[in-house]
Amino acid sequence: MGRPEALRRIKRLSDAAWRAADRLFPVRVPRAWFDQINPDDPDDPLALQALPDPRELLTGMDDLGDPVGEQALQPLPWLVQKHPDRVLLLLTRRCHLYCRYCFRRTAPHHAGPEDPDDEALDAAIAYCVRTRPREVILSGGDPLAVTDTRLFRVIDALRPAVPVLRVHTRAPITAPERVTEALVAGLRARAPVWVFVHCNHPRELSPEVRAALARLVDAGVPVLNQAVLLRGVNDDVDTLVALCEALVALRVYPYYLHHTDRVAGNAHLRVDPAAGLALHKALSRRVSGLALPSYVVDPPDGSGKIQVERAVAEGKIARDEPGGA
Ligand code: SF4
Repeated sequence: MGRPEALRRIKRLSDAAWRAADRLFPVRVPRAWFDQINPDDPDDPLALQALPDPRELLTGMDDLGDPVGEQALQPLPWLVQKHPDRVLLLLTRRCHLYCRYCFRRTAPHHAGPEDPDDEALDAAIAYCVRTRPREVILSGGDPLAVTDTRLFRVIDALRPAVPVLRVHTRAPITAPERVTEALVAGLRARAPVWVFVHCNHPRELSPEVRAALARLVDAGVPVLNQAVLLRGVNDDVDTLVALCEALVALRVYPYYLHHTDRVAGNAHLRVDPAAGLALHKALSRRVSGLALPSYVVDPPDGSGKIQVERAVAEGKIARDEPGGA
């Protein structure tokens, strides 16, 4: 049995189920990530995040079509605006790795363009220049799935109207070779550009990933992490302590721990809010303030990210909201 077949078996998928899952949300795993998966471990945290699972094919009563309430908040295609001072600009739908829990997994990856054409991109930029938000968040998909030329063209067109740019990317973790000297120099020359990465488990911090993060930090680019709380991946306090302390040692601030959004196909990876709050409390007893992320949720009403504790208190999410199957 070859390694790909062994990996397919650990996810208990037939060829037909694999193809069905891929049709719903493409399976894309970079070689380096794939090679780190332990094919003998059915609960390997890297496999759980990247390989399809038969439970993705089930739909649940608790799934939401618009899990973070953004569909009605799009002033133009490729833009999302929940706050007057911030705009999200989606540079592409493409990613180096498609995370199986992604809240945009039901976005039309097979229908419609994967990238805005020049006309749509120019219109989105013009909206930001005209309305002058304080921050534009370049997101996607993964904004580092586009070329440096396109990325820098967008940043340069937004300046000086938009003082602060944020790049929300998983590429330094999933494709560390993307963090080239040219990219780092370009970001440095355009400061302030803040880079938000997305790492969920300490095993994602390979030597190549550590080197990529160091290239950014050494150049003076501020780097923060946004993790997602995932059942079987990082829903134990020892893993969260190891992740947050490793990030601090790498000079990456563990900014947010996200509550998983309720999109169809990720129910088996969700943790219920009560369990998440208990874990966050346990984490707060083990790490310094510098290593303690805020536990946040982007509630389905579209009001924007807030602390899970407050979301529960205000009735935006239920404390016992079910996790997964
Ligand atoms: S990198 Fe981000 S946008 Fe892309 S699949 Fe993962 S969570 Fe979704």
